[in-house]
Amino acid sequence: MNITASEPASGPWNPKRILAALRADASIGEVLAGADIEARYLNDWSGEEGGRPLALVRPHDTAEIARVLSLCHAGRCPVVPQGGLTGLAGGATPIEGCVLVSLERMSGVVELDPASATMTVLAGTPLQVVQEAAQAAGFLFALDLGARGSCQIGGNIATNAGGNRVIRYGMARDLVLGLEAVLPDGTVLSMMNKMVKNNAGPDLKHLFIGTEGTLGIITQAVLRLHPGVSGANTALVAAPDFGSAIKLLRHAQHLLGGRVSAFEMMWQDYYAAATTAGGIAAPLPATYPLYVLLDLQAAAPEEDAARFEAMLEHALAEGWIADAAVAQSHTQTQAFWELRDAISEMLRTFAPTINFDVSAPISGIEECVARMREALARDFPGVRAIYFGHVGDGNVHIMVGSLPTDDRKTEQRIEAAFYAIVRSLSGSVSAEHGIGLHKRPWLHYSRNPAELSLIATVKRAIDPHGIMNPGKILAS
Ligand code: FAD
Repeated sequence: MNITASEPASGPWNPKRILAALRADASIGEVLAGADIEARYLNDWSGEEGGRPLALVRPHDTAEIARVLSLCHAGRCPVVPQGGLTGLAGGATPIEGCVLVSLERMSGVVELDPASATMTVLAGTPLQVVQEAAQAAGFLFALDLGARGSCQIGGNIATNAGGNRVIRYGMARDLVLGLEAVLPDGTVLSMMNKMVKNNAGPDLKHLFIGTEGTLGIITQAVLRLHPGVSGANTALVAAPDFGSAIKLLRHAQHLLGGRVSAFEMMWQDYYAAATTAGGIAAPLPATYPLYVLLDLQAAAPEEDAARFEAMLEHALAEGWIADAAVAQSHTQTQAFWELRDAISEMLRTFAPTINFDVSAPISGIEECVARMREALARDFPGVRAIYFGHVGDGNVHIMVGSLPTDDRKTEQRIEAAFYAIVRSLSGSVSAEHGIGLHKRPWLHYSRNPAELSLIATVKRAIDPHGIMNPGKILAS
């Protein structure tokens, strides 16, 4: 059922009146303000600086969120939705005088429908909880990323998160069948579709996927489940060069029937840092130019083992790989994956860092990385960078670290240099983390003027007072 919240007398209200109205409304729970708002709500993982929030609410249900938005709409008060605050673009960072709406109390699985292979969840459910509920019922919820323990499914959908399994299952968008969302004026839009096929006109759920809370708040989702897996055939291989690694990718996809579930590339600098600063055991010596973590998940991985090894042997014979370590147990598979998950630790070790999440056609990635290296060596001597990413889907991450503290000018010059390279290769300034505050100055490198104008038109139509997460993606 769609309900339109009744609208109180509208017009710009001063902060005191907003706070009083929120507190006076019996349908809204605890409203925190000032020093009662804990520091953890004032930043996401990007460390992007924001403003001081007016209030924090942590609603228990959709009706409560509808009431908060209805009041903020009437009083023209900015609203910032917050999920698990693991975002790397500053999307959930508070802006001055906003009401923070944290989804953390709206957590839980509402229904698992085995016949339809769907799971209905509240938006504040942590990704790992969703994964475990799917697994317990014999299914796979395929979205996976390093922040799985803290990020929420609502945040994943709002950022159209990617992660480790995109090469096989697609991004968050591909795993969402239905949504419930609250519009900026408090209207609840229920689109809890369970079907894969539904072409009854435009599919409005996409307005809320990847739009980083700028058009409304996601409150529930119907997720698409895949058949369960019980393990994986996993190998860590060393490749002599980028072209050979891509030949391995295409060969593996062909031989394994398109079922490669991860193809994570780590350039030597990343591998060396993970196995030294990250403290992870090195299954292969750190002397090769490139490493790839290759994973084939399956319901019965033992049935694929021979074919998986034959695939690697052929690649070895062709010279596409120079060395390989095949995981012999689940523990060893996990140990290989720790190499990739070591990034959280390295972000801390090499702070302050600038983190790039870019994509380019796979044929342009080698050039992209080479030109970035050249630019750093030429113009920023002493600045260190490591390169890695979900390269099987065209995504490269670069962590530029050991920067001079508080040197925003150098940061901006490095960003300008790197994003210009990405633009020249027809790549994207954001592969999977979104735009938020951090990448707003570079959005026009990846979206043309007609696209930007239409994004602004849609925003105005749905949020005429511009209260939803203003300043994120587009300038407010
Ligand atoms: P938040 O950070 O709280 O919010 C992100 C954005 O979504 C904000 O704009 C916020 O306003 C909005 N939002 C949150 N909840 C809602 C809601 N219910 N309705 C409307 N808007 C909402 N990302 C990837 O894509 N792939 C990766 O591999 C990956 N790996 C990571 C590894 C680490 C160690 C870390 C720290 C982060 C990683 N990320 C990755 C980034 C981050 O985890 C994702 O962007 C994640 O989807 C954010 O979810 P969240 O719940 O933390 O959202």
